[in-house]
Amino acid sequence: MSTPRTPDAPGRYIPVAVRRYVLARDGYTCHYCGVPATDLDHIMPWGQGGSHDPHNLVTCCTRCNSVAGDRVFGELSEKEEYMVRRLGEMGAWDDSVGD
Ligand SMILES: [Zn+2]
Repeated sequence: MSTPRTPDAPGRYIPVAVRRYVLARDGYTCHYCGVPATDLDHIMPWGQGGSHDPHNLVTCCTRCNSVAGDRVFGELSEKEEYMVRRLGEMGAWDDSVGD
């Protein structure tokens, strides 16, 4: 196990070029629920030693990002399974909620 990084450690920000690449690759659509999104999600959390490599990143909406939190998954398929289950339990995303 690598030592967890502190939240303000140098290098925590995803380089702009990588961010643009991943958003374009994923079509600006959340990998987990399919809504338009501009956030990125680390499959292996950065704080747990995950890199900013595009292979470790997917486009993710704010909601899915908060559902995933800092849970650690061995691979993307594991995380996808978890996310689909959690999102199912939470019910369909309703844009009309809140005013
Ligand atoms: Zn989502």
